Amino acid sequence: MLITESTDNGTWDTPAKLKGLEESGSWKLWKNIAKKDKAFGNPNPFCDNIDLQKWYSFTATMKDSTFLDYMENFSGNVDGTGGLVTLTDSNWLMSFVIARQPHFPNQPDDVKIFWGYGLYPDRKGNYIGKTMAECTGAEILEELYYHLKIQDRMKPITEAGKVNCIPVAMPFIDSLFMPREIGDRPDVIPKGATNFAFLGQFAEASKDCVFTVEYSVRTAQMAVYGLFDTGKKVHPMYDSAHNPKYLLGALIAINR
Ligand SMILES: Cc1cc2nc3c(=O)[nH]c(=O)nc-3n(C[C@H](O)[C@H](O)[C@H](O)COP(=O)(O)OP(=O)(O)OC[C@H]3O[C@@H](n4cnc5c(N)ncnc54)[C@H](O)[C@@H]3O)c2cc1C
Repeated sequence: MLITESTDNGTWDTPAKLKGLEESGSWKLWKNIAKKDKAFGNPNPFCDNIDLQKWYSFTATMKDSTFLDYMENFSGNVDGTGGLVTLTDSNWLMSFVIARQPHFPNQPDDVKIFWGYGLYPDRKGNYIGKTMAECTGAEILEELYYHLKIQDRMKPITEAGKVNCIPVAMPFIDSLFMPREIGDRPDVIPKGATNFAFLGQFAEASKDCVFTVEYSVRTAQMAVYGLFDTGKKVHPMYDSAHNPKYLLGALIAINR
């Protein structure tokens, strides 16, 4: 099962389409497998409520450095050093990340890219009178510029055709965070299995934190080291849940 299953890309002029279970091969596959044995888990809590699981993101590509220069001056962070920027006043709760440039090995020096998302895609924007889900790539960037107060600065660059933005609809991206019961995630190696295993975000790796690449890698280690005689051990979990320093940090964060 992929959290990016049934993802759809829009364009500069068209919004992304939200697909559903019908278009989703991997979720249907798990549903069919799960009917055969309880040990194969229960996919339903993870995939049956797309409105709670979906997420919209966007990628901007600019043949111009104005946006990145502005952000560097404004935040004091050179690209790749700032982490997420969250626009807390944004109705969509937009965030964006400027990764170290070039992000791609073949990215030309004069091309800059960044990535962002909105956590409330069904709310109307503060500037654009549409939900994020209804917006084209151009409209999403307009909303972003509005929050950063750089609409005038970016206008000539946009009009010169130097900017592109691809909106993306991901119906299952948060499915791994859905409330679940013990047994909904199958064991990596279900009891009695000798020649197959479940890998990735929906297999059980106790105490690990889903969404991360590490989680998927750990399940792969559990499968390979469990089924083959490699003499290797699964990389141990860092037990932060019993570390007073992190517990205190969590308590402070919850009460902020
Ligand atoms: C926008 C976004 C941001 C993220 N940010 C972070 C982050 O900052 N930190 C972090 O740790 N994690 C992040 N993640 C999560 C992380 O990327 C995933 O959890 C991780 O990549 C899952 O790894 P995987 O190997 O289980 O699955 P995938 O990486 O999805 O790999 C599955 C592979 O199987 C292939 N495949 C699918 N179907 C078939 C088929 N029928 N036949 C053959 N091959 C097939 C796919 O093409 C794919 O290559 C992010 C995810 C997204 C979408």
